[in-house]
Amino acid sequence: MSLKMAYNDNDGAPQRQRVEGNWVCSNPDCKAAITSLPFQPDPSRLNQLLCGDCHRARVSSFKRPPFRRAA
Ligand SMILES: [Zn+2]
Repeated sequence: MSLKMAYNDNDGAPQRQRVEGNWVCSNPDCKAAITSLPFQPDPSRLNQLLCGDCHRARVSSFKRPPFRRAA
């Protein structure tokens, strides 16, 4: 049933388009090469790019403010 396989290939989920390029992580302690990003980087923010590891570390360093539910 190769026909069915073709249909199942993309399960209706949006494909994440990665943008390929040649950037450097802006973390001075890292400076890892970034060769692809899950988004189109803003040219004015190329010096603020973070690699995946640094981005994750920075996001997790943000303390999530308590979500206040409007009563
Ligand atoms: Zn980094």
